Amino acid sequence: MITVSGRSVCAGVSFGPVFVFSREESTIKRRHIESSDDEIARFESARKQAISELGMLYDKAISEVGEANAMIFQIHQMMLEDLDYIESIKNIITDQFINAETAVGQTCDNFVQMFRAMDDAYMRERSADVKDVSERLIKILSGRDDGGIISDKPIIVVTDDLAPSETVQFDKSKILAFVTEDGATNSHTSILARTMNIPAVIGAKGVLNKDFHGKQAIIDGSEGTLYIDPDDTTIAKMTEKKKELECQTKALQRLKGCKSVTKDGQKIELYANIANVLDIASVLNNDAEGIGLFRSEFLYLENIDYPSEDVQFGVYKETLLKMEGKRVVIRTLDIGADKNAAYFHMPKEENPALGVRAIRLCLQRPEIFKTQLRALYRASVFGKLSIMFPMITSEWEILKTLEIIDEVKEELSSEGIAFSNDVELGCMIETPAAAVISDILAKHLDFFSIGTNDLTQYTLAADRQNSEVGEFCNMYHISVLRLIDTVVKNAHKNGIWVGICGELAADENLIELFLAMGVDELSLTPSAILSARKKILETNVSEIRGVVLNKYLERQ
Ligand code: PEP
Ligand code: MG
Repeated sequence: MITVSGRSVCAGVSFGPVFVFSREESTIKRRHIESSDDEIARFESARKQAISELGMLYDKAISEVGEANAMIFQIHQMMLEDLDYIESIKNIITDQFINAETAVGQTCDNFVQMFRAMDDAYMRERSADVKDVSERLIKILSGRDDGGIISDKPIIVVTDDLAPSETVQFDKSKILAFVTEDGATNSHTSILARTMNIPAVIGAKGVLNKDFHGKQAIIDGSEGTLYIDPDDTTIAKMTEKKKELECQTKALQRLKGCKSVTKDGQKIELYANIANVLDIASVLNNDAEGIGLFRSEFLYLENIDYPSEDVQFGVYKETLLKMEGKRVVIRTLDIGADKNAAYFHMPKEENPALGVRAIRLCLQRPEIFKTQLRALYRASVFGKLSIMFPMITSEWEILKTLEIIDEVKEELSSEGIAFSNDVELGCMIETPAAAVISDILAKHLDFFSIGTNDLTQYTLAADRQNSEVGEFCNMYHISVLRLIDTVVKNAHKNGIWVGICGELAADENLIELFLAMGVDELSLTPSAILSARKKILETNVSEIRGVVLNKYLERQ
């Protein structure tokens, strides 16, 4: 048995085979060949296999992320049918008597250069697709088995780290757990694992070992441990632990339908964080009282081009309808930093987390912002919609945003399109600037939602993505907790509600503190809702208020 340890980001126990996903660049070996006919036949068979793999990916993606998002795989299939591309590869094989891998590599380089030199931005983007399909062909030709995370049976995924755009390609029903060699507690892979409620461990040094691929393993998410080829004692212990956890989950089911109220009658709303409409099943299953954070940027990350107003309208409408009148807070596009889609053509930045992200991008490119706002307002008649703006640092950003919203509403009215006049507007408080001026911001808004992931990173100057500064990115830091307290007070002084939607909201050690501060709402990963409710039902705030506030806000 081999034991690999890391840090826990999501509890739970899973048994299954390890799938090592390493993103090694392929090195192509140039070889002279005897028969160009045989080599062309080898190329043809690889091409057919690639087309069939892409067909499978398309089918999976369609049921998971919808037709518009699945289209990328069809485009890749079409590229493999492109006569110029095929002819170029065959000519290189015949003229130079070299192996198909090298011919594909050379053709890829030529096509990439050609696409990159084009004036049209859309065509320039296609160079990445040529690279992608060529890489798939080379992998098949060279017999390498690292073509992505595709498996027909459930697996424990072991990798270095995952970009948000990679996670959208998974068949999530086949993922038992994540173990990453790098990664940070509040990276989007960790957030995804918690949303899917599967065990996850990060910072597991040495885990990215090809020899582990296919081996049976057990992951203990709460301990942050992966057991490869587990011995009988470990199997017995983990089987017992899994059963216990299942019993606890079952026991929580009885809290469905209860209000989240403390023993002394203080109410707090428990909402859910989601990234797409598929997550709503889990929101309803865990009896969330609303959606407190819909990260709408995932709609953009899942697409190969800007999602149209109609596509967005469809998604927002479906969300509101499924929530049947419960509050749904949709955050406008928070693209930038680690969340990046190629078609935005964002210039490279030295410090992207301090660069053009979220509201900054929306204000610089109002056409993108307006498309989203139109879709949101059109959907607003189907439920109880609240719109929230990310990465606010100044009052003028809110004023400018409100101006744009007025324009959007005027346009819709003049086109005879219905929208609700009761849409609440709020902003994320996730920069120290916004927290400090929350009394000023509150005058223009209906609510605040505190994003503790970014608030911690910006307050403590510690990159949330960088595991090397993990100990500095401390969400319990007194400065972060004091800022939260300031925001709650400023919100209430101005008569607006305030919630927390960062990962800290799900931290059960802090629920007493948030109750003592008077936070109105916590928005959590859906699977954490019922156990948070249990904690709330067991708490008597008036008894603990003084002690808790003193403990967290007065001492380092
Ligand atoms: C946050 O920053 O706390 C937040 C909820 O937003 P995100 O994690 O998507 O940046
Ligand atoms: Mg944030």
